[in-house]
Amino acid sequence: MSAPIDPVALTQALLRADSVTPARGTVFDVLESALVPLGFAVDRFVVGEAPDGPVENLLAVRGNGPRHLAFAGHVDVVPPGEGWTGSPWSGEVRDGLLYGRGAVDMKGAVAAFVAAASRSDAGTLSLIITGDEEGPATYGTVALMERMAARGIVPDLCLVGEPTSTARLGDMVKIGRRGSVNIWIDVPGRQGHVAYPHLADNPIPRLIAILAEIETVVLDEGTDWFQPSNIEVTDIAVGNPAHNVIPAKASARLSIRFNDQHRGTDLIEHIRAIAERHAPGAVVTGKVSGEAFLTEPGAFSTLLSAAIVGATGVAPELSTTGGTSDARFLSKLCPVVEFGLINATMHKVDEAVAVADLLTLTDIYENVIARALG
Ligand SMILES: [Zn+2]
Repeated sequence: MSAPIDPVALTQALLRADSVTPARGTVFDVLESALVPLGFAVDRFVVGEAPDGPVENLLAVRGNGPRHLAFAGHVDVVPPGEGWTGSPWSGEVRDGLLYGRGAVDMKGAVAAFVAAASRSDAGTLSLIITGDEEGPATYGTVALMERMAARGIVPDLCLVGEPTSTARLGDMVKIGRRGSVNIWIDVPGRQGHVAYPHLADNPIPRLIAILAEIETVVLDEGTDWFQPSNIEVTDIAVGNPAHNVIPAKASARLSIRFNDQHRGTDLIEHIRAIAERHAPGAVVTGKVSGEAFLTEPGAFSTLLSAAIVGATGVAPELSTTGGTSDARFLSKLCPVVEFGLINATMHKVDEAVAVADLLTLTDIYENVIARALG
C-alpha cells in the first residue's frame, strides 16, 4: 500500500478546483491523481450535450474480493453566491473550520472515503462519482449506472456520502427518500364580458372544484419509516388584469412529496381523473423528479450504525426525511444508505466543515469498509 492520504489536504485540493455544476476537468484530475496510486483503475468519461451537459463522470474500481462496497457521490457544487468572508475556492482553515463551496456537500466526504480507502486493501471497492448531482442530473449517476451495467460491475452495498448529519456528526443516517412530483392543471374556458356570462364560460369555478376535492385526498397514513404523503397546492394563476372580463383559462400547480406506497406516474393519473371529473378537457401535466425508495433496516444500516457509534458515541437516527438524492437511482442496484457530514451550511455562504469532523468521518468510513468487506 502507498502512504495514507490526508483527508484534509485532499478536501482542500478538491475545494480549490472551481466545479460549479456541471463539473468537468480539474476537480476530476485531482481525484484521479489521488486514486491511481492507491491501485484504483479509473474510468473517466464525458457525456451529454447542452443544456444539461456535457457532464464528466468517474468510475474507480479496486480489488477483486468476493464482497463489493461502492461509495457514491458528486464533485460538482452549487454556485457560491455573494457575501463570502474569503474566497469560496480558497480551501482555507480558520479556527478549526475548513471553508469552501462543497466542503460538506460533498467534497469533504469524497476525500474522507478516499483517505479511508488508502488505509485498507480489503475486498472490492468502487467510487461512483458524478459531475452533475446539483444540476439536472440527466447525465450523472444514471449514466454511471449504464456504464457499470455495460462493464458488468454490480456492488453488494452502496454508501452515498451526502451530508445527512444535522446537529452532530453521526446523528442521522438516511435509509430512504420520499419521491417528488410536480403537477400543472390548466382548465380552459371561453373569454367574455362579465355582464354577458351566458356568452362566456368561466374556468375558475371548475378549477376551485378540482382543488377543493384535491384538498380532501388522503394518500396514506404514513408507514413505519415514512411520514404521510402530502399534496401541496403551490400556485393558482389566472392573470386577469380586468374587472369586466371572464378569463379564458385558469391554472394551478401542485407539488406532491410521497412515500414508497406510491409511484409518481400513478399520482399524476390520480390528479388527472379528479380534474377530468370537474372540468372535462382540463390539461394535466406532471414531472416526476424522483421516485420514493427504502432500504429496509437490516445488515447494512446495522453495520453503519455500529461504525458511527464506535467513532462518535452517537447512535444515529434512521430517517427518510428531506429532499431527493441520487440514492433514488442507485437503490435499483443494491441496498443503499446515505451518511455524511453535518448539513447545516450546505448551499449557504461560508460553507464549512470542521477539520475534526473530516478526521472522524474518515475513521467511520474506514470502519464501514472493514465491517462490510472484512
Ligand atoms: Zn450533495
